[in-house]
Amino acid sequence: MNKNINVNFVDLSRQRSRLDGAIEKAINTVLEHGKYIHGPEVSQFEEDVKDFCDVSNVVACANGTDALSLTLMANNIKQGDVVFVPSFTFTSTAEVVCLAGADPYFIDVTEDTYNIDVEDLIENIKEAERKGLNSKAVITVDLFGLPADYDRLESVCKEYGLLLIVDAAQSFGSVYKERKTGALGDITTTSFFPAKPLGCYGDGGAILTNDDVVADKLRSLRVHGKGTDKYDNIHIGMNSRLDTLQAAILIKKLKIYADEIISRNRIASTYSSALCDDVITPFVPEGLISVWAQYTIQLEEKQREIVISSLKEKGIPSAIYYPKPLHLQTAYQSFLSSVNGMDVSEKLSKKCLSLPMHPYLTGEEQEFVIESIKSA
Ligand SMILES: *Cc1c(COP(=O)(O)O)cnc(C)c1O
Repeated sequence: MNKNINVNFVDLSRQRSRLDGAIEKAINTVLEHGKYIHGPEVSQFEEDVKDFCDVSNVVACANGTDALSLTLMANNIKQGDVVFVPSFTFTSTAEVVCLAGADPYFIDVTEDTYNIDVEDLIENIKEAERKGLNSKAVITVDLFGLPADYDRLESVCKEYGLLLIVDAAQSFGSVYKERKTGALGDITTTSFFPAKPLGCYGDGGAILTNDDVVADKLRSLRVHGKGTDKYDNIHIGMNSRLDTLQAAILIKKLKIYADEIISRNRIASTYSSALCDDVITPFVPEGLISVWAQYTIQLEEKQREIVISSLKEKGIPSAIYYPKPLHLQTAYQSFLSSVNGMDVSEKLSKKCLSLPMHPYLTGEEQEFVIESIKSA
């Protein structure tokens, strides 16, 4: 039994059938009105996200990486500035700092949440002070969909006068003690890359903030820094718009997203109760709701190899996020990292394994994954 079950890591086709033609219809509407750049669906989607997250400004843009770049530009982060970032994350978080001409400073993460270690951050903020560095901001990442420790991060950033940027590319719709994405830190960025919890059919991103002045600047920056007169640009900006077609798709997907988050949480708790005696399962602190961009377990390095290959034999996909923390990657080796070392990030890169996770995973499929891990 269970021989021919085909489990997908992420399954967008089941979501599409659930939406029963709504996406095709929405695409057709765009084809008919033909407003491909900043058509009415873009502002509609921005409004919908405002309601969903309860935030006063949503600025859609081309992707999650640009969302971060635009945020740094809007806040005048420039050459000579230092921005603290976790090392255990996707490249974009640090890449954008370098593109702004500033220097990323890598901080370690905690072993149970995978998110930035606030103690380590504080010690390195002080170290940067001693070195006379120009510390400007912290970019936190809500890795795998789980919010970082914002009560403490907000008070640390306030104490040291640092801007708190939240990279919520993996955590759109998550909750931190009754506060949703967009209400944490100073400004939040997200991504609608297809495999993210809320994804479109191509690239997409957005910036969320309650600061109206910054939001206005962002609206200018995403269109080359335009002023009220299109040919008198007031900032050096970039071309980073969300396509009307992608906005049309996102409008439909956002309508079922709250329900999908519930399914993701149900699936995550099934995994956790079945696997908690065999492997290290994810920890969710009190009062937080993850959106489970990834369901990630920890295994000993040797065990991990065995599990990956035995899952592979059964046709079950799994993935390692991230096999190499940023501070060890070729492009980032010359930048500063924690004075305490980066032991946790390095250790996690050898132990983490992400399992199939999407809201349409059936009980039978999940059972197959669970049994396969247990027997390995
Ligand atoms: C995916 C991701 C991004 C980048 O998003 P894109 O839309 O692919 O540019 C940034 N940060 C993190 C943590 C991500 O996971």
